[in-house]
Amino acid sequence: MDTEASMRPSTTPRSRALATEAVHAGRDDLAALGLHAPPIDLSTTYPSYDSRGEAERIDTFATTGARLDGSPVYARLDNPTTARFETALARLEGTESAVSFASGMAALTAVLLARASMGLRHVIAVRPLYGCSDHLLGAGLLGTEVTWTDPAGIAEAIRPDTGLVVVETPANPTLAEVDIRALAHSCGSVPLLVDNTFATPVLQRPVEHGARIVLHSATKYLGGHGDVMGGVVACDEEFAARLRQVRFATGGVLHPMAGYLLLRGLSTLPVRVRAASVSAAELSRRLAADPRIARVHYPAVGGAMVSFEVYGDPHRVISAVRLITPAVSLGSVDTLIQHPASISHRIVDEGDRQAAGVGDRLLRMSVGLEDVEDLWADLCQALSDPPARTAAGSVPESRPAGR
Ligand SMILES: *Cc1c(COP(=O)(O)O)cnc(C)c1O
Repeated sequence: MDTEASMRPSTTPRSRALATEAVHAGRDDLAALGLHAPPIDLSTTYPSYDSRGEAERIDTFATTGARLDGSPVYARLDNPTTARFETALARLEGTESAVSFASGMAALTAVLLARASMGLRHVIAVRPLYGCSDHLLGAGLLGTEVTWTDPAGIAEAIRPDTGLVVVETPANPTLAEVDIRALAHSCGSVPLLVDNTFATPVLQRPVEHGARIVLHSATKYLGGHGDVMGGVVACDEEFAARLRQVRFATGGVLHPMAGYLLLRGLSTLPVRVRAASVSAAELSRRLAADPRIARVHYPAVGGAMVSFEVYGDPHRVISAVRLITPAVSLGSVDTLIQHPASISHRIVDEGDRQAAGVGDRLLRMSVGLEDVEDLWADLCQALSDPPARTAAGSVPESRPAGR
């Protein structure tokens, strides 16, 4: 335990290429430990015969939020396996530190609470955001007061109690992009949080463009296989310390098994994102040329997400896909499609949703690693007129429409 903690580099600048970091970051000490795969530490508690020493360490953590040397005392303070994932993600995003959470929403919650605890309850946010992020900010669950604006309105919306500016780029689900550098400039001294879930550090490292806080739903591309939930915030060590204190007090910790799976996911992140992006770009070109499609959204930064608006009934497409899985979420090795107005953004007030460009005919597709011709064939049959599908005998007409 001592060995692991003391050998963990905390603020190593990113000097190796991203693909190399993806495979080696968070694992640098393994060879010295005589290991190849990272160990999983499932301990909830850690023995110590020195309770005076423990008291001191707890005081240190409570006052500074700094990572403890040696054992974590109790699993809500820290865990060596999740710490490996944090080290690796920080290296990929080019930040000093990263703090992991049980989900993306737990991560956003911790950021909002950390700022509110400094008396900074006001948040400025740009729509669209992921539906539940929109809901968390707007519903007042955490006592946050939000001003919704477009990038041009940020400077004007800043107040003395503004603690954060929140933006997603490319945004869920329209894939709308903002100029991070210009936006960071309008934030002045207010920290800009960029939700980088869709681009991943493979395509975009927001801190290099002036963002101070980078948030991920690790459930998506970082995990990459649709079998682990997690969230992570990459930032400077000062804010990371606050986040650790909030995480300790509120308990939204990432499970060590999830930490292990996320670290493993990171090692293939560059390969997965690049391969799926090639297919997504190709599908976006074919969809754009298809007369059944009214509009295609594909980000300039690239990526494996494609959104498109159909002329026909979007629920029919959802009910007709066969290879593609009709399911919410994204970033898995297999292709998923969903209807944001029904699912991912259902919780957003309809007027706000429409105003943010999330219309009723919009479908959001997360492109996986299947062969692009197989994906195109499935999309084409799903988009074709109902009689053609019935003739093929593949779709019972009575099947309820995609919910
Ligand atoms: C899914 C998602 C979240 C929420 O993450 P969870 O892991 O589901 O809690 C936040 N932001 C974006 C952009 C997402 O897609």
